[in-house]
Amino acid sequence: MLPDIKSITRAELEARLKEWGEPAYRAGQVLDWLYKRRVASWDAMTNLPKPLRAKLAENFSLRVLELVLKQGARDTTQKFLWRLPDGALIESVLIPANPALYGESSDRHTLCVSTQVGCAYGCKFCASGLDGWKRNLGPEEIVEQVMAVERWNAVERSKVESRESSAGGESPRPSALDSRLINNLVIMGMGEPLANYDNLLKALRLLNAPWGGGIGARKITISTSGLAPQIRKLAAEPEQFRLALSLHGAIDEVRARIMPVNRKHPLAELTAALEVYQRRKDQLITFEYILIAGVNDGLDQTKPLAALATRLNAKVNLIPYNTVEGLSWARPAESVCEAFLSALENLGVTVTLRREKGGDIDAACGQLRLKTERELAGPAA
Ligand code: SAH
Ligand code: SF4
Repeated sequence: MLPDIKSITRAELEARLKEWGEPAYRAGQVLDWLYKRRVASWDAMTNLPKPLRAKLAENFSLRVLELVLKQGARDTTQKFLWRLPDGALIESVLIPANPALYGESSDRHTLCVSTQVGCAYGCKFCASGLDGWKRNLGPEEIVEQVMAVERWNAVERSKVESRESSAGGESPRPSALDSRLINNLVIMGMGEPLANYDNLLKALRLLNAPWGGGIGARKITISTSGLAPQIRKLAAEPEQFRLALSLHGAIDEVRARIMPVNRKHPLAELTAALEVYQRRKDQLITFEYILIAGVNDGLDQTKPLAALATRLNAKVNLIPYNTVEGLSWARPAESVCEAFLSALENLGVTVTLRREKGGDIDAACGQLRLKTERELAGPAA
């Protein structure tokens, strides 16, 4: 299989074009078509000579994601289900600005992207891991989730603009093509990002590059279930990516019950790795803490949780559990969530509680894919 054009760096592209005897400015033209105009075919690169387009096509693939399904209305959380060239399904979730969560108040939209098809880590509450791990996503498949949503948005915007000017037409207008929707990324979709480390880093560098996605490193949050060795590795990278830890249990006994990964990397090892990250990056770590009824929502858990947060200077995001079809875990009553929040506040923790109803459209990643795959597979026996 040919390498995909959206998996290589500017320097790599420049070297190839130089080999082919092309003038230096060609690299910039190609990159503009890929990342500014986000075109879906070589033929759309109209300022490149035809023989160059043919040569690019012989040497690289230009794969785009196929939209299978979109759920949710504009200005709410919208979920995209994509089909990859090999038929596998993945999800991305587009979330309107929520300044309190990740990033700053200028945020427009956050995109949550997937890094693997399925997940090998098998957290007991999670839909992504239910059917196991199928494969890693390539760098271009991670990058393309951003490009494909931007492409979709350009078409949508054009529709609105042409309706307003009553001009008609399905293809995006230049003004819409240049617009950008996503300026914040969370790597919290399907899969364990740090288990696909090299492809993830490659993709994030392409999305971060000024000639590529142009998304600031501090606007990119990587969420991990706690792969301690890879957290240390990430700490040594030059970029200021943000880190979120899916904690969900403040003591080993609780955490190991719902997250098998905790047996391999228990809290002592994990917090040591996070300390390294925090020291090197000089920025806040976020703890994600899903509240699951009767599992980790007891007030006795707030003390050890506050101790961890204080030690790591971490901010805590409390997220009431989204129920998953086929799993018996439940979301605690609102009063329980509020009491948990107050207890942490009283212990001096910086903490937020997600109150919106994300569950409406299967907002927890992995659920839409699971449902669609099961529907495609036909009715259960
Ligand atoms: N594998 C990584 C990133 C993907 S999961 C990780 O575990 O961090 C993204 C987040 O969604 C994690 O915090 C995960 O614990 C959470 N999550 C999974 N299933 C959920 C559910 N049903 N309700 C709420 N959050 C869920
Ligand atoms: Fe995998 Fe994250 Fe789901 Fe755990 S929570 S199964 S690591 S995707």
